[in-house]
Amino acid sequence: MDPQEPPKKRIAVIPGDGIGQEVIPQALKVIRASGADVAMSEFDWGADRYLRDGMTVPPDGFAMLGRDFDAIFAGAFGDPRVKTNIHAKEILLGMRFKMDLYANVRPVRLLDAALCPLKGVEPKDVDFVVIRENTEGVYTDAGGVFKQGTPDEIAIQEDINTRKGVERIIRYAFEYCEQHPKLDGSSRSRVLMVDKSNAMTHAGGLWQRMFKEVSGEHPQITAQHMYVDALCMQMVRDPRPFDVIVTNNMFGDIITDLAAGLQGGLGMAASGNIHPGKTSMFEPVHGSAPPIAGKNVANPFGAILTAAMMLAHMGLTREAEKIEAAVREAVRQKKTTQDIGGTLGTREAGEWVAERVTKRLSS
Ligand code: ATP
Repeated sequence: MDPQEPPKKRIAVIPGDGIGQEVIPQALKVIRASGADVAMSEFDWGADRYLRDGMTVPPDGFAMLGRDFDAIFAGAFGDPRVKTNIHAKEILLGMRFKMDLYANVRPVRLLDAALCPLKGVEPKDVDFVVIRENTEGVYTDAGGVFKQGTPDEIAIQEDINTRKGVERIIRYAFEYCEQHPKLDGSSRSRVLMVDKSNAMTHAGGLWQRMFKEVSGEHPQITAQHMYVDALCMQMVRDPRPFDVIVTNNMFGDIITDLAAGLQGGLGMAASGNIHPGKTSMFEPVHGSAPPIAGKNVANPFGAILTAAMMLAHMGLTREAEKIEAAVREAVRQKKTTQDIGGTLGTREAGEWVAERVTKRLSS
């Protein structure tokens, strides 16, 4: 290897369960077609492995991922045969929490007007991003159940918000706003913090104070605030004003499913779980979707767009752009799965995009 050449990027691939095992191979095909100079190693962590030998994550698993890889590309976790869902929690939440991947970045982009259920909305009208706090909130599972199974049962689910956690996610949102232009090349200019501080005053108060403090350091960015209920209504009435949205773990989870609806459904949505400077993990927003698993009907575009996001994160922006352009063309020509109006299967849709990427490379 030429000593001047940057080292090959290393990607750990964990397809996981259900449709994860169908969509990830399509995304890998597209990555290879893009000519990206990456080395990919596959891991079989998931329900099959757990049911076979009880392993969810090997003892040094997270340390190994952080040490030996530049990025992790994950499918989906969850299988009806594992009633407790313990493997999904240990693998997926394990990566997010133990590797401290605190910023869950979910771009919301409409690739074609036909995919949006709203009347008169064009691709230029839907190009925003949701930055979801990923390591705190109610998903830490702090709390407990007392007197379970009796009429006096009490269930407590704590909402954990630390100053460090809230400050860093808000800071990340402002930095993202400065560094990531829109699809049409124009700059982003607004950060909207979403909470429910009128009802949840303790946690909301901390978010409000941190938002004021950090926004004061970025006077060129317009700082805005909305309650989460009002945001939901606005999102389906008119998504045009949104740019960068920052919010907590649970609100982010919920509003990004709603936002996925604006871009063609769960099969179209990409995400990254990021800690700047550390090995980050990229996964489609959808889950393992057991009802449609194994039928070659799952939409692979969310996974393929996630692959593009991962390549861009590692600096392979040309390859990422080629992939995104090919997916946009597939949507335009209806070379898609049925959920977004096409007639192709998972494999055939993936194949079409891979061929398109290869053609663009050779033309
Ligand atoms: P999780 O709890 O892991 O987020 P979930 O049960 O909430 O998962 P999903 O597994 O993502 O949700 O899927 C819910 C439904 O959405 C699926 O049953 C399926 O109908 C649809 N869906 C999700 N992903 C896709 C996809 N890639 N292609 C087509 N349909 C999809």
